[in-house]
Amino acid sequence: MGQFDGKIAIVTGASRGIGRAIAERLASHGATVVCVARGANADDTARAITAGGGKATAYAADVTDTAMVEALVKETVERHGRLDILVSNAGITRDQLMLRMKRSDWDEVLATNLTAAFTLCQAGLRPMIRQRAGRIVAISSVVGQMGNAGQANYAASKAGLIGFCKALAREVASRQVTVNVVAPGLVDTDMTRAITNSAKTDWAAQIPLGRLGSPADIAAAVGFLASDEASYITGQVLAVNGGMYM
Ligand code: NAP
Repeated sequence: MGQFDGKIAIVTGASRGIGRAIAERLASHGATVVCVARGANADDTARAITAGGGKATAYAADVTDTAMVEALVKETVERHGRLDILVSNAGITRDQLMLRMKRSDWDEVLATNLTAAFTLCQAGLRPMIRQRAGRIVAISSVVGQMGNAGQANYAASKAGLIGFCKALAREVASRQVTVNVVAPGLVDTDMTRAITNSAKTDWAAQIPLGRLGSPADIAAAVGFLASDEASYITGQVLAVNGGMYM
């Protein structure tokens, strides 16, 4: 028996990195996972989960497209009859120092990292409220908590997610829907591949636990917040950052 047996989960940004690890984690404990990314990008994640005996389907959607996100939730509920776990993980960076940052860099990051969470939660809340149960987890960042030069757009989007989730947590708590945030530190994924190995070593030296995070470290925290054991936790920010920010 897995702790997520019978549960239906949607994970955005599940094609790689942290989102893929989250999808794999939930599926390994019995959830049926709808793995979302653009085009056919999440196909491999769903195939790997299925090959390992888990339950997953790939769903092609751009999270900045409201109609696609609404269809994602509608089709998931039509197909599986319910929605238990919603993980808003898809995210991008468009780093630039403020004076050189283009308006489009700002708009794209806010649309993908923050507005998409609004759209996804608005659609996903309806079935959860009907069920009087649900788990929403949004992936923020240590950068939303402490700032980072060259990431004014990203920091704003990630700090915005924290405020958004706290407000939503208060709004839906009476329906037993919890809304929490996981704020990763520096995690080794495609997103951080532009950082040179020597810069990663320098960063690691400043992280109390002495290493970068892995996607599995983040997935473990999401798995906990999505579980029944976390039923009395809502509106919280769980930092998974090796002590980088306390
Ligand atoms: P990643 O390896 O670059 O993966 C990003 C994921 O987001 C991909 O699956 C990508 O799917 C998806 N995505 C991006 N834009 C999308 C869109 N418009 N529609 C649908 N899917 C979209 O990044 P990651 O490091 O795993 O990051 C995952 C989350 O963790 C992000 O929110 C990120 O901000 C956050 N985070 C990461 C770190 C870190 O150090 N890596 C630290 C703190 C927080 P496609 O295949 O469609 O591109």
